[in-house]
Amino acid sequence: MKYNFQGIHILIVEDDLLSVKFLEAILEDSGAKIFIARKGEEAMNIVTNEKVDIVLMDIQLPGMDGNELTRKIKSYDKSIPVLAQTAHALEEDKKKSMEAGCDDYVTKPIDIELITHKIDELIFQFKKRDKKE
Ligand code: MN
Repeated sequence: MKYNFQGIHILIVEDDLLSVKFLEAILEDSGAKIFIARKGEEAMNIVTNEKVDIVLMDIQLPGMDGNELTRKIKSYDKSIPVLAQTAHALEEDKKKSMEAGCDDYVTKPIDIELITHKIDELIFQFKKRDKKE
């Protein structure tokens, strides 16, 4: 792991247990604190009760989907970056997620290099944005 996410709180929203384990394994050595939610209600509970620096958002969730959940998170706190993950590589799906407020997007199967780079980028971008405001 070439990135240091010490002190960073990452919320993984993912209903598929294998995908959760995969993301946890990727982030294990980064120093980040990981929260896991399997569905929308759990995710909102964590967002409203914990410091969350970035959300890794599965779009295909049972019940409230990842786009709807992103809208809820952003209306609660728009400064939390949301990185969408989906099995669909269609432009239309990407557009839907970006319109819902997702800040960036990766497709499954997840590329480890790419997702860690994007997490680093989003945390850094949002920190900079905070300073400007
Ligand atoms: Mn899913």
